[in-house]
Amino acid sequence: MRYAIISDIHGNREALDAVVAELADEHIDGYVCAGDVVGYGADPVACLARVRSLGRLTAVAGNHEWGVLGRTPRAYFNSLAAAAVEWTSGLLTPVELDYLGQLPLTDARGDFEVVHGSLERPDDFTYIVGPADARECLKRMAGRLCFVGHTHRVGIWSSDGGHLTAVKASSVVLKEGRRYLVNTGSVGQPRDGDPRASYVVYDDEAGRVDICRVPYDIALAQKKIRAAGLPKRLAERLAEGL
Ligand code: ZN
Repeated sequence: MRYAIISDIHGNREALDAVVAELADEHIDGYVCAGDVVGYGADPVACLARVRSLGRLTAVAGNHEWGVLGRTPRAYFNSLAAAAVEWTSGLLTPVELDYLGQLPLTDARGDFEVVHGSLERPDDFTYIVGPADARECLKRMAGRLCFVGHTHRVGIWSSDGGHLTAVKASSVVLKEGRRYLVNTGSVGQPRDGDPRASYVVYDDEAGRVDICRVPYDIALAQKKIRAAGLPKRLAERLAEGL
């Protein structure tokens, strides 16, 4: 089976469309969304519809979903995120909120798990930034592979149960006896200095994880954010990838 794992789309329709178009040639058997379909960008409704239309989808909730549902208090968010959560909440219908409300915080499919932040307290949306955070998540994994998002930065951590390694390659073949924690980066608001949309393709037969980047129409996404009256910084940062 070949899986496409996407995360942190954040209402960026142009980025999501570019990723989905790229995946059309990839013979994908199943889609996985690691949360934060909404928030920050100008097209949360369209992005939600597009993700739900992907089919054979496994999806979990992110902190922005929990924000619009009122499960994560506004005070948790910084001012930019809070403004986006507020704006997004006003757009979603009860049907869309019901859908978001039934999303689990963690899920499993094939031989892997998925969670937005970390398996360490999924409902607190812990960030995996350094090795200590990665270790906490790795030790809670049921199997050898887990996909996360949330930081908007691509990263692969690998452990043999003792030694932890930060894998620098964008492509990795899973080795017997090791566990892998893969941050897919963000489709709609990358923060690792590369403004291109980020996603992952996982082939469970080849045991191979590929981190992929694709350019998209950033100028159009920025224009829509400005036109929506969302904070200007949310538009600017897309071009910087920060
Ligand atoms: Zn996010």
